[in-house]
Amino acid sequence: MTTDSNCIFCKIVQGEIPAFKVYEDEHVLAFIDISQVTKGHTLVIPKAHHQDLFDLPEESSKHIFAVVPKIARAIKQTYQAEGLNIVNNNGELAGQTVFHYHVHLIPRYGKGDGFG
Ligand code: 5GP
Ligand code: ZN
Repeated sequence: MTTDSNCIFCKIVQGEIPAFKVYEDEHVLAFIDISQVTKGHTLVIPKAHHQDLFDLPEESSKHIFAVVPKIARAIKQTYQAEGLNIVNNNGELAGQTVFHYHVHLIPRYGKGDGFG
């Protein structure tokens, strides 16, 4: 599996940095964002290191998007959210700050909930 010893999300995958995990399988990990935009803000990542969408093998995207709806439903129910945004920043210009591919799941609670 591709891994980058300088990557913060690879360190989370390896258990070197703690994270509040909400889902895990052989290929995918989901955990709560360290600075939640709204309550329950979750990041879904491939366990293998791929920089961004442009670098993501088809198999990885299949694994991720096979579980995203399940995780989204679980978040919606757990946090009693009204809705949920999926956000994916690719490249510095697009706002990406951690260069290990990740999908943001941002639960929504209504106007003034902190996002949008
Ligand atoms: P980006 O801006 O690359 O789309 O999103 C990176 C996200 O990673 C940010 O929302 C940031 O809060 C989150 N993040 C950065 N470092 C850590 C960390 O060490 N642990 C967790 N759980 N989230 C992190
Ligand atoms: Zn990584």
